[in-house]
Amino acid sequence: MSKKVNILGTKFLPINNETFLNSIISDCENHQNRFVVTANPEIVLAARQDKNYQNIINNADYVVADGIGIIKGAKILKTPIPERITGYDSMVYLLDWANKYNKKVFFLGAKPEVISKLKEKISSNYPNIIVSGAEDGYFKDETPIVEKIQESKPDLIFVALGFPKQECFINKYRHTSDSIWMGVGGSFDVLSGMAKRAPIFWQNHHIEWLYRLIKEPTRIGRMMALPKYLLLIYKEKYFKH
Ligand code: UDP
Repeated sequence: MSKKVNILGTKFLPINNETFLNSIISDCENHQNRFVVTANPEIVLAARQDKNYQNIINNADYVVADGIGIIKGAKILKTPIPERITGYDSMVYLLDWANKYNKKVFFLGAKPEVISKLKEKISSNYPNIIVSGAEDGYFKDETPIVEKIQESKPDLIFVALGFPKQECFINKYRHTSDSIWMGVGGSFDVLSGMAKRAPIFWQNHHIEWLYRLIKEPTRIGRMMALPKYLLLIYKEKYFKH
Protein backbone atom coordinates (compact mmCIF):
# COMPACT_ATOMS: atom_id res chain seq x y z
CA MET A 1 0.00 0.00 0.00
CA SER A 2 0.98 3.63 -0.53
CA LYS A 3 3.25 5.47 1.91
CA LYS A 4 1.23 7.12 4.67
CA VAL A 5 0.72 10.87 4.80
CA ASN A 6 1.31 12.44 8.19
CA ILE A 7 -1.12 15.25 9.00
CA LEU A 8 -0.29 16.74 12.41
CA GLY A 9 0.54 13.29 13.76
CA THR A 10 -2.33 11.29 12.22
CA LYS A 11 -1.16 8.97 9.46
CA PHE A 12 -3.46 8.75 6.46
CA LEU A 13 -3.51 6.35 3.55
CA PRO A 14 -3.40 8.40 0.34
CA ILE A 15 -5.87 6.24 -1.57
CA ASN A 16 -9.02 6.90 -3.55
CA ASN A 17 -12.52 5.54 -2.93
CA GLU A 18 -12.24 2.78 -5.50
CA THR A 19 -9.00 1.33 -4.12
CA PHE A 20 -10.27 1.66 -0.56
CA LEU A 21 -13.63 -0.03 -1.13
CA ASN A 22 -12.18 -2.83 -3.28
CA SER A 23 -9.59 -3.51 -0.65
CA ILE A 24 -12.16 -3.59 2.17
CA ILE A 25 -14.37 -5.96 0.21
CA SER A 26 -11.47 -8.28 -0.48
CA ASP A 27 -10.48 -8.20 3.21
CA CYS A 28 -14.05 -8.96 4.19
CA GLU A 29 -14.29 -11.89 1.81
CA ASN A 30 -11.08 -13.27 3.34
CA HIS A 31 -12.42 -12.81 6.89
CA GLN A 32 -9.63 -10.45 7.81
CA ASN A 33 -9.78 -8.45 11.01
CA ARG A 34 -9.76 -4.80 9.99
CA PHE A 35 -10.20 -1.46 11.75
CA VAL A 36 -11.22 1.54 9.65
CA VAL A 37 -11.05 5.17 10.76
CA THR A 38 -12.47 7.92 8.58
CA ALA A 39 -10.78 10.91 10.17
CA ASN A 40 -11.63 14.61 9.84
CA PRO A 41 -9.77 17.67 11.19
CA GLU A 42 -11.62 17.43 14.52
CA ILE A 43 -10.32 13.90 15.02
CA VAL A 44 -6.79 14.94 14.03
CA LEU A 45 -6.86 17.71 16.64
CA ALA A 46 -8.30 15.43 19.33
CA ALA A 47 -5.58 12.88 18.56
CA ARG A 48 -2.93 15.59 18.80
CA GLN A 49 -4.10 16.38 22.32
CA ASP A 50 -4.29 12.76 23.43
CA LYS A 51 -1.39 10.52 22.48
CA ASN A 52 -3.23 7.39 23.54
CA TYR A 53 -6.05 8.21 21.12
CA GLN A 54 -3.49 9.05 18.44
CA ASN A 55 -1.84 5.64 18.89
CA ILE A 56 -5.19 3.91 18.64
CA ILE A 57 -5.90 5.67 15.34
CA ASN A 58 -2.43 5.15 13.93
CA ASN A 59 -2.69 1.44 14.71
CA ALA A 60 -5.88 1.10 12.64
CA ASP A 61 -5.53 -0.70 9.31
CA TYR A 62 -7.09 2.09 7.28
CA VAL A 63 -7.08 5.76 8.21
CA VAL A 64 -8.73 7.67 5.39
CA ALA A 65 -9.50 11.34 4.80
CA ASP A 66 -13.06 12.22 5.75
CA GLY A 67 -13.44 15.87 4.91
CA ILE A 68 -12.13 18.53 2.62
CA GLY A 69 -10.02 19.93 5.50
CA ILE A 70 -7.75 16.87 5.36
CA ILE A 71 -7.41 17.07 1.57
CA LYS A 72 -6.57 20.79 1.78
CA GLY A 73 -4.14 20.23 4.66
CA ALA A 74 -2.36 17.47 2.74
CA LYS A 75 -2.07 19.73 -0.31
CA ILE A 76 -0.67 22.63 1.72
CA LEU A 77 1.95 20.28 3.20
CA LYS A 78 2.77 19.08 -0.33
CA THR A 79 1.88 15.47 0.46
CA PRO A 80 -1.40 15.18 -1.47
CA ILE A 81 -4.21 12.74 -0.73
CA PRO A 82 -6.31 11.98 -3.84
CA GLU A 83 -9.83 12.43 -2.54
CA ARG A 84 -12.29 12.42 0.33
CA ILE A 85 -13.52 9.08 1.60
CA THR A 86 -16.51 9.71 3.81
CA GLY A 87 -17.73 7.33 6.48
CA TYR A 88 -21.32 7.74 5.36
CA ASP A 89 -20.77 7.08 1.65
CA SER A 90 -18.48 4.14 2.37
CA MET A 91 -21.07 2.63 4.70
CA VAL A 92 -23.82 2.99 2.07
CA TYR A 93 -21.61 1.38 -0.58
CA LEU A 94 -20.75 -1.52 1.73
CA LEU A 95 -24.40 -2.00 2.64
CA ASP A 96 -25.29 -2.33 -1.06
CA TRP A 97 -22.55 -4.89 -1.44
CA ALA A 98 -23.62 -6.72 1.74
CA ASN A 99 -27.19 -6.82 0.44
CA LYS A 100 -26.05 -8.31 -2.86
CA TYR A 101 -24.07 -11.08 -1.19
CA ASN A 102 -26.23 -11.81 1.88
CA LYS A 103 -23.64 -10.62 4.36
CA LYS A 104 -24.02 -10.31 8.12
CA VAL A 105 -23.96 -6.78 9.49
CA PHE A 106 -23.92 -5.48 13.07
CA PHE A 107 -25.03 -1.92 13.86
CA LEU A 108 -23.95 -0.35 17.12
CA GLY A 109 -24.65 3.22 18.13
CA ALA A 110 -26.99 6.23 18.02
CA LYS A 111 -30.12 6.85 20.08
CA PRO A 112 -32.68 4.05 20.67
CA GLU A 113 -35.29 5.73 18.42
CA VAL A 114 -32.68 6.10 15.65
CA ILE A 115 -31.64 2.47 15.83
CA SER A 116 -35.25 1.27 15.69
CA LYS A 117 -35.91 3.43 12.58
CA LEU A 118 -32.64 2.15 11.15
CA LYS A 119 -33.78 -1.47 11.54
CA GLU A 120 -36.93 -0.68 9.52
CA LYS A 121 -34.88 1.03 6.81
CA ILE A 122 -32.45 -1.87 6.56
CA SER A 123 -35.17 -4.48 6.25
CA SER A 124 -36.98 -2.53 3.53
CA ASN A 125 -33.98 -1.16 1.59
CA TYR A 126 -31.52 -4.01 2.11
CA PRO A 127 -33.72 -7.09 2.51
CA ASN A 128 -30.88 -9.60 2.00
CA ILE A 129 -28.66 -8.26 4.74
CA ILE A 130 -28.58 -10.49 7.78
CA VAL A 131 -28.73 -8.13 10.76
CA SER A 132 -26.53 -9.77 13.41
CA GLY A 133 -27.45 -7.06 15.87
CA ALA A 134 -28.68 -3.49 16.09
CA GLU A 135 -27.97 -1.90 19.47
CA ASP A 136 -28.19 1.72 20.52
CA GLY A 137 -25.10 3.52 21.74
CA TYR A 138 -26.32 4.46 25.22
CA PHE A 139 -25.60 1.15 26.95
CA LYS A 140 -24.39 0.89 30.53
CA ASP A 141 -22.72 -2.46 30.13
CA GLU A 142 -20.98 -3.36 26.91
CA THR A 143 -20.44 -7.04 27.79
CA PRO A 144 -23.71 -8.39 26.29
CA ILE A 145 -23.08 -6.41 23.11
CA VAL A 146 -19.57 -7.76 22.74
CA GLU A 147 -20.80 -11.30 23.42
CA LYS A 148 -23.39 -10.91 20.69
CA ILE A 149 -20.70 -9.78 18.27
CA GLN A 150 -18.44 -12.63 19.28
CA GLU A 151 -21.16 -15.22 18.79
CA SER A 152 -22.56 -13.91 15.51
CA LYS A 153 -19.22 -13.10 13.82
CA PRO A 154 -20.61 -10.40 11.50
CA ASP A 155 -18.90 -9.58 8.22
CA LEU A 156 -19.24 -5.85 8.85
CA ILE A 157 -19.57 -3.97 12.13
CA PHE A 158 -20.52 -0.29 11.98
CA VAL A 159 -19.88 1.57 15.20
CA ALA A 160 -21.66 4.95 15.46
CA LEU A 161 -20.72 6.23 18.92
CA GLY A 162 -19.01 9.44 17.75
CA PHE A 163 -15.30 10.00 18.30
CA PRO A 164 -13.27 9.13 20.34
CA LYS A 165 -15.66 6.56 21.82
CA GLN A 166 -16.08 4.54 18.64
CA GLU A 167 -12.36 4.17 17.97
CA CYS A 168 -11.68 3.26 21.63
CA PHE A 169 -14.47 0.67 21.54
CA ILE A 170 -13.18 -0.89 18.32
CA ASN A 171 -9.60 -0.93 19.53
CA LYS A 172 -10.66 -2.67 22.73
CA TYR A 173 -12.90 -5.31 21.18
CA ARG A 174 -11.76 -5.94 17.62
CA HIS A 175 -10.03 -9.14 18.70
CA THR A 176 -13.44 -10.70 19.47
CA SER A 177 -14.40 -11.10 15.81
CA ASP A 178 -12.56 -11.19 12.48
CA SER A 179 -14.74 -8.57 10.88
CA ILE A 180 -14.44 -5.18 9.22
CA TRP A 181 -14.89 -2.74 12.12
CA MET A 182 -15.63 0.79 11.06
CA GLY A 183 -16.42 3.96 13.04
CA VAL A 184 -19.15 5.96 11.29
CA GLY A 185 -19.99 8.90 13.62
CA GLY A 186 -23.46 10.33 13.07
CA SER A 187 -24.18 8.17 9.98
CA PHE A 188 -27.05 6.17 11.52
CA ASP A 189 -28.91 9.42 12.20
CA VAL A 190 -28.76 10.15 8.46
CA LEU A 191 -29.36 6.61 7.19
CA SER A 192 -32.41 6.21 9.44
CA GLY A 193 -33.86 9.42 8.02
CA MET A 194 -33.86 11.06 11.47
CA ALA A 195 -31.24 13.64 10.37
CA LYS A 196 -30.83 15.12 6.92
CA ARG A 197 -27.55 15.24 5.08
CA ALA A 198 -26.79 18.47 3.24
CA PRO A 199 -28.29 18.65 -0.27
CA ILE A 200 -25.90 17.73 -3.07
CA PHE A 201 -25.14 21.39 -3.96
CA TRP A 202 -23.75 22.00 -0.46
CA GLN A 203 -21.80 18.73 -0.59
CA ASN A 204 -20.28 19.49 -4.00
CA HIS A 205 -19.25 22.97 -2.93
CA HIS A 206 -17.64 21.58 0.21
CA ILE A 207 -19.92 23.60 2.49
CA GLU A 208 -21.66 20.65 4.12
CA TRP A 209 -20.25 21.92 7.42
CA LEU A 210 -22.10 25.26 6.92
CA TYR A 211 -25.37 23.41 6.31
CA ARG A 212 -24.89 21.45 9.53
CA LEU A 213 -24.06 24.62 11.40
CA ILE A 214 -27.27 26.31 10.23
CA LYS A 215 -29.29 23.22 11.22
CA GLU A 216 -27.51 22.73 14.54
CA PRO A 217 -26.05 26.09 15.71
CA THR A 218 -24.79 24.44 18.91
CA ARG A 219 -22.07 22.83 16.79
CA ILE A 220 -20.25 26.18 16.60
CA GLY A 221 -17.83 25.16 19.36
CA ARG A 222 -16.91 21.97 17.51
CA MET A 223 -16.56 23.86 14.25
CA MET A 224 -13.95 26.18 15.67
CA ALA A 225 -11.69 23.16 15.27
CA LEU A 226 -11.38 23.88 11.55
CA PRO A 227 -9.65 27.31 11.71
CA LYS A 228 -7.48 26.01 14.54
CA TYR A 229 -6.54 23.02 12.40
CA LEU A 230 -5.67 25.19 9.38
CA LEU A 231 -3.53 27.44 11.54
CA LEU A 232 -1.56 24.42 12.75
CA ILE A 233 -1.16 23.19 9.17
CA TYR A 234 0.34 26.54 8.12
CA LYS A 235 2.57 26.55 11.19
CA GLU A 236 3.79 23.09 10.20
CA LYS A 237 4.40 24.24 6.63
CA TYR A 238 6.33 27.40 7.43
CA PHE A 239 8.10 26.59 10.66
CA LYS A 240 8.89 22.89 10.59
CA HIS A 241 10.40 22.55 7.13
N1 UDP B 1 -23.60 8.50 20.34
C1 UDP B 1 -23.84 7.27 20.93
N2 UDP B 1 -23.44 7.07 22.22
C2 UDP B 1 -22.83 8.03 22.95
C3 UDP B 1 -22.56 9.28 22.32
C4 UDP B 1 -22.96 9.48 21.02
O1 UDP B 1 -24.38 6.37 20.31
O2 UDP B 1 -22.52 7.77 24.11
C5 UDP B 1 -24.04 8.68 18.94
C6 UDP B 1 -24.95 9.86 18.71
O3 UDP B 1 -26.29 9.51 18.99
C7 UDP B 1 -24.73 10.13 17.22
C8 UDP B 1 -23.25 9.73 17.04
O4 UDP B 1 -22.90 8.98 18.18
O5 UDP B 1 -25.52 9.28 16.46
C9 UDP B 1 -22.29 10.91 16.96
O6 UDP B 1 -22.71 11.80 16.06
P1 UDP B 1 -21.93 13.11 15.68
O7 UDP B 1 -22.83 13.89 14.82
O8 UDP B 1 -21.35 13.76 16.88
O9 UDP B 1 -20.72 12.49 14.85
P2 UDP B 1 -19.90 13.03 13.62
O10 UDP B 1 -20.53 12.42 12.40
O11 UDP B 1 -19.92 14.52 13.65
O12 UDP B 1 -18.55 12.45 13.91
